[in-house]
This record gives sequence, C-alpha cells and structure tokens, in this order.
Amino acid sequence: MTDPHPFIAGLPKAELHVHHVGSASPRIVAELAARHPDSKVPTDPEALVDYFTFTDFAHFIEVYLSVVDLVRTPEDVRLLTFEVARDMARQNIRYAELTVTPFSSTRRGIPEAGFMEAIEDARKAAEAELGVVLRWCFDIPGEAGLQSAEETVRLAVEHRPEGLVSFGLGGPEIGVDRPQFKPYFDRAIAEGLHSVPHAGETTGPQTIWDALTALRAERIGHGTSSVRDPKLLEHLAEHRIALEVCPTSNIATRAVTDIERHPIREMVRAGVLVTVNSDDPPMFGTDLNNEYAVAARLLELDERGIADLAKNAVEASFLDPTGKRKLAEEIDTYTANWLRPPGR
Ligand SMILES: [Zn+2]
Repeated sequence: MTDPHPFIAGLPKAELHVHHVGSASPRIVAELAARHPDSKVPTDPEALVDYFTFTDFAHFIEVYLSVVDLVRTPEDVRLLTFEVARDMARQNIRYAELTVTPFSSTRRGIPEAGFMEAIEDARKAAEAELGVVLRWCFDIPGEAGLQSAEETVRLAVEHRPEGLVSFGLGGPEIGVDRPQFKPYFDRAIAEGLHSVPHAGETTGPQTIWDALTALRAERIGHGTSSVRDPKLLEHLAEHRIALEVCPTSNIATRAVTDIERHPIREMVRAGVLVTVNSDDPPMFGTDLNNEYAVAARLLELDERGIADLAKNAVEASFLDPTGKRKLAEEIDTYTANWLRPPGR
C-alpha cells in the first residue's frame, strides 16, 4: 500500500461501498480464527498476510468464503462488526454504510434475532466508543439466486434493525440479470429502504440502465462501464445518481486492466457525482485512505479537490440532513485549518 497523503489520513470521511465480511483485516481474522481452531485459516497475523495474497479471482472467492466460515455465532458477528469500525476510526472514517449479507449468516445457522442484535449492538458501541456512525445496506448475494433475494427482503422487513437504510445486490453480474430482482427491490423500497445495487462492474452499460429502471437505483455500486455510454453518463449526472467507485478493487477483480486507464476521469469530466470507496479493503490490500490517494493522483487533485471528493460521499450518503451538514462542516474546517498559513 502506498503511503497515504497526511492530509487524507486526517480528513474526516464517509464510506458508501464497503462489505462487512470483506472488511475483516488480518488482525480481525486472526481473532476469529483463534475462536475456531478447527478452521484452516491461520491464526498468526503475519501468516495471514500471505494467506491474503491472491493468485486469481477464484482464489479470492475461496479465501473470502473461508473468512465467511469463521463467522458462526452472534458473538463472532459482534466482534467482526465492532473491530471493522475500529479500523475505520483509525482512518478518520466518521460515517459508513456497511454492506451486510445476512443471508450468508442465517443460512449457516446463526439465529436471525441474534444476528440482528449483534450488528445493532456493535453499531451502538462503535458510535459511542469510537465516534463512527454505521448504517446497514442488506444485500442479496446474486449468485445464491432468487431464494436468497426472498430471504434477504424478508429479514430486512421482519427485523428492520434501526441502522438499516438501504437494499443492495452483489455477487457476480454475468448471468445474473438485474431485472429478475425487481419484486424484491419493490418490497424493500415500499418499506422505505434506498436502492443501491452493484451494476456495470464486470458487464456493460445496459446492466446499469437495468439497475436504474427495474431496481430504481439511487446510487450505483461501481458503474465502471458507464463511461461506454454517453447518454447514461448524462442521465447519471443530471439526476445526481452517484457512482460508488472502488479503484483498487477494479484492478484486483480485473474489471479494469490498468489503473492508469481507470474510467474515473471520464466519470468526473462528465459531471457525474463520483464517490471513492474501498469495497473489500484488506482483501484487496488497500484501505479508504489509499483509495483517496489513488483517486487524487488519477484526478490530479489538490487538498481542496480531495475535500470535495469527501463531500461528494456525504452528499450521496443516506445520512439525515443535519448529519450531512455537520460532516460537511467538519471536512471544511479540517481543510481550512490545513491550508491556513502557519502563524495565523
Ligand atoms: Zn462491492
């Protein structure tokens, strides 16, 4: 990981696209592995760094699933969630919408109520003890089919944890058409949840149009291929539909072949509301600070430009108006102090 710009490290930030289990750092995985000695995951953080070095995408999925397998009890869920917030606090992330896939946990036998209590418990503790405000996006693991969609919307509606703000769709896109999930998104939206599916990460712009029309997306996860369709870019810009861009993830999954040719520049040039995010940070050897450093380099941003990028995330977030204003002010104050000439 490159050295994050010191300005970025201290900058108050919001993160909109980051996965719960995918945020488990070697430190957290070691703690979970120690609780479950029968697992094949190493318990030594140093050995874990090697374990987290992926040879290809299939290997990434294998490792990801072995970490999923370490989350077996409500106490594991609580520990994972709170420790993820601790890693966020260290980067001055003040607000995060964490994508949680409850289906993966309840299917493995974690009681529904216990799961919900664990994430809510961790959320309240993170806010009180670490100053990190967490909100949930419950997402459908697309590869698990319509049954998982039915389960995910049921869990969202029946339990409706206080921190839940949105409904998503992840997993592979190829062969998993967005429109088939329309009835589940309709139900979630009717319950007041925001729609934030992944789209156009590994498929073309049509998937993004599908997400907009069938799933009524308010933000798009990735949206990498949007730059291939000028009309789509125009539509996104006009309606202030933000893209959740995750540069390093796009390279790791080969959605983009070369970071120097990442489409973030075209997105910004087209006037689209671009936010920068980390997706599955430790698994991709990154964190949010590094993603900001990557984006700042690609977009040739100075401190003010970087602060504007952070404010894009605040604008595109589902924080209430007062919370948005406070966080934007925090960013402005921090930036003004940073840029003030010494001695004044
Ligand atoms: Zn994602």
